[in-house]
Amino acid sequence: MWNKIKKNLSASKIYFVEIFIVFVLFLFFISFIYPLSLTQFTSLSLITLLFLFILLYIIGEKRKLDILEVKSIIESIRKNKFNSAEEIKLTTSLVDLEDEIKSMFLKTRSDIENLKKLEQVRTEFLGNVSHELRTPIFGIQGYIETLLDGAINDPKVNKNFLIKAARHSENLNNLLNDLIDISMIESGEMRMSFRFFDAKEYFEAIINEMKNLSEAKGIPLILGEIRPNLQLFGDKIRLKQVMTNLVSNAIKYTDKGKVEILIVESEKEGRIIVKDTGIGIPESEISRIFERFYRVDKVRTRAVGGTGLGLAIVKHILEAHGTKITVKSTIGEGSEFSFALKK
Ligand code: ADP
Repeated sequence: MWNKIKKNLSASKIYFVEIFIVFVLFLFFISFIYPLSLTQFTSLSLITLLFLFILLYIIGEKRKLDILEVKSIIESIRKNKFNSAEEIKLTTSLVDLEDEIKSMFLKTRSDIENLKKLEQVRTEFLGNVSHELRTPIFGIQGYIETLLDGAINDPKVNKNFLIKAARHSENLNNLLNDLIDISMIESGEMRMSFRFFDAKEYFEAIINEMKNLSEAKGIPLILGEIRPNLQLFGDKIRLKQVMTNLVSNAIKYTDKGKVEILIVESEKEGRIIVKDTGIGIPESEISRIFERFYRVDKVRTRAVGGTGLGLAIVKHILEAHGTKITVKSTIGEGSEFSFALKK
């Protein structure tokens, strides 16, 4: 009993000062209105004290129950006992707190889910990276070992093996460069430098640099008409990366026909279109090709030396330009990747 009284009084101790002030004011007020004898004053003080003591006891009891209720709700949240926010119910006196606890519950739950997703993405990414690294490393290792085991003296294969090992090391290098770019983009370290640039001069230079690639495959690379003095706005270096990825994909996945780069002007922007007459992409895969390491035809993309990261980088860079990439494609007829830049 005494313990309970002690606990309740201690729960209400935050009100001691206020109640003491009320007590003094009350006595002062009463003795002011009715002049009391010392005995009367002492009795009144004792009765008031007793009354206040009972009041503190009741307040303490109520506060203790409220605290217990909140504590038990928090404990249930911590132990994952609730499946939905609707299951969280508090008594009427604490109803204001109920909404706060519910939103805290939802926020914590979504934070945890996001963390789990991030963890999963990280694990998948690491798995993919190791898998992607393994292919060229095993390739290089295999050719070198075969050469060391005697193939180096066989003029029929030695050069061929060296060429293949060199191709694998080039793939490895491309993969590492793409990985560095992806990590820079995702950690926010990739700084953009937006400026107006001359579209004609810029795209002509890119086409000239990529001519070798298309000529090696016997696919014409055509640049459409660009209005002289057309100024587009963006980061030239990063946009070059976008163009290199799109154009080299167009060449890689086209066996006959042509690859075209067109700039279509509208009132406020210039739309850059990279169009090929290649293998095309199935409708169902279009939304996935921008995922890291996603490839439509795994065997073919490896054979043509893709890292599977190119379009993920393109998407990020264009997002940083406040624009996004659009894809149209028909299997067997070709694909068209396009994005708009402000002018
Ligand atoms: P990769 O380095 O493998 O080419 P990307 O991220 O650049 O990786 O492209 C992802 C996938 O999208 C490719 O593996 C390929 O299957 C498909 N793809 C991209 N561009 C084209 C295209 N122009 N024509 C057909 N398929 C394409």
